Amino acid sequence: MGSHSDDSSAASFVKNPTIKFTKLFINGEFVDSVSGKTFETIDPRTGEVIARIAEGDKEDIDLAVKAARQAFDHGPWPRLSGSERGRIMMKFADLLAEHAEELAALDTIDAGKLFSVGKAVDVPHAVNSLRYYAGAADKVHGKVLKMSRELHGYTLLEPIGVVGHIIPWNFPTTLLFLKISPALAAGCTMVVKPAEQTPLSALYYAHLAKLAGIPDGVLNFVTGFGPTAGAAVSSHMDIDAVSFTGSPEVGRKVMQAAAESNLKVVSLELGGKSPLIIFDDADLDMAAELAILGILFNKGEVCVASSRVYVQEGIYDELVKKLVEKAKAWVVGDPFDPKVQQGPQVDRTQFERILSYIEHGKREGATLLTGGKPMAQKGYYIEPTIFADVNEEMLIVKDEIFGPVMALAKFKTIEEAIKKANSTRYGLAAGIVTKDLSVANTVSRSVRAGTVWINCYFAFDTDCPFGGYKMSGFGKDYGLEALHKYLHVKSVVTPLYNTPWL
Ligand code: NAD
Repeated sequence: MGSHSDDSSAASFVKNPTIKFTKLFINGEFVDSVSGKTFETIDPRTGEVIARIAEGDKEDIDLAVKAARQAFDHGPWPRLSGSERGRIMMKFADLLAEHAEELAALDTIDAGKLFSVGKAVDVPHAVNSLRYYAGAADKVHGKVLKMSRELHGYTLLEPIGVVGHIIPWNFPTTLLFLKISPALAAGCTMVVKPAEQTPLSALYYAHLAKLAGIPDGVLNFVTGFGPTAGAAVSSHMDIDAVSFTGSPEVGRKVMQAAAESNLKVVSLELGGKSPLIIFDDADLDMAAELAILGILFNKGEVCVASSRVYVQEGIYDELVKKLVEKAKAWVVGDPFDPKVQQGPQVDRTQFERILSYIEHGKREGATLLTGGKPMAQKGYYIEPTIFADVNEEMLIVKDEIFGPVMALAKFKTIEEAIKKANSTRYGLAAGIVTKDLSVANTVSRSVRAGTVWINCYFAFDTDCPFGGYKMSGFGKDYGLEALHKYLHVKSVVTPLYNTPWL
């Protein structure tokens, strides 16, 4: 595939990208799985098979961990200076940028993501992650301690060791780099288990890592299923830390497996049911724009999607009218088409799950304002859907649907809005739309969520720590916080003077 500048030529050349990498990547080589088994990866636009991918299992995870352990204990990566690691990571980032179209196309055919967004947002986000942590790699240092008596003490920040990363399918590129970039900068070696729905771009990244000069064994990729390959990561005795992004149900299993094996360090980025609270004084057009984008971006397959929208009573009717108009005008279709705003859901399982939630919403008495149906003869397309008159007892308000389904409710007072916003077991993100600074400040301090956006939504940045409260998990991605997740603090103490210790 060559490089194309305009969207129409891009659309024609990327629709059937050549699949170059289908095998596991262990110790710098693409290899078959030990069992020789493969699995199908499916194009959600059609339900057809794109390619067969090597199916890794426990034996393959063992081999990958051996390679990562060898690279950690004896290889150059943890021993390079931070600036040397940073230089290689910068090269890796440049290679991503050079291959942005091909990489975005792989995520489009594998996950149904918009090609234009993959190229303009997902891959650049990954590039930024690598560059941000590459820049931080030589600024990692401990401190000199103020110790009692005649002691000299200092701390060393050491890489945590072999890390297992378990990745979901909704942002196969962004979420991969949000995890591996700080771990690489810290000097860790790792085993990555991409989601079984979206293995294609991950294996291409493995190839680019090798081209960039990341030493063999540092970054290993084992494609396969959760209960087999994924579970082998979380229960492995020789993995020092596991970083997981996915559902709370699986997060719990990861934590259990970690507890029952070697008590490895765990960080979990889990689901959400994020509230967007719109006050009477809001700019209505902006509020409608944010609410629609908040739930329909990436077909609602976003952990921070604003799936619960609370609108103050004074503007409720007018805003609802705008939301319904916008949802009806939202363009669903082929994710390669630059005019399209929403592609297909990732696979049949998610498609059916979302439709069953919609049926549930109707049965439990929510008012269906628009949408609610599948959209095409083939492929996993769903209409943008808005439910009104919801309450906190309804399943469509409690559960993360992970699809283009908004739940809308009215509120009177700021206290009521805060109460509704917090009436969830999740705590990943929240949005507030108001011109009143004191309202914005009161709500942002009262909402139990890891990120609060005021008069914006999805405002991510590499320097901005991201992670959950409550059942949305713990441990931060992004920011220097994420770098510290992959570092151990070692305290070193010695007598100040060269005297025997008493
Ligand atoms: P999932 O939990 O089913 O799968 C996530 C990953 O875990 C996959 O790679 C899967 O193979 C693996 N896995 C499955 N079973 C496993 C097991 N027993 N042991 C170890 N690994 C296992 O989640 P999903 O359906 O792929 O993704 C959707 C969920 O992820 C949603 O809940 C969403 O909110 C969440 N998510 C969270 C964030 C965040 O940053 N907080 C970001 C994206 C997605």
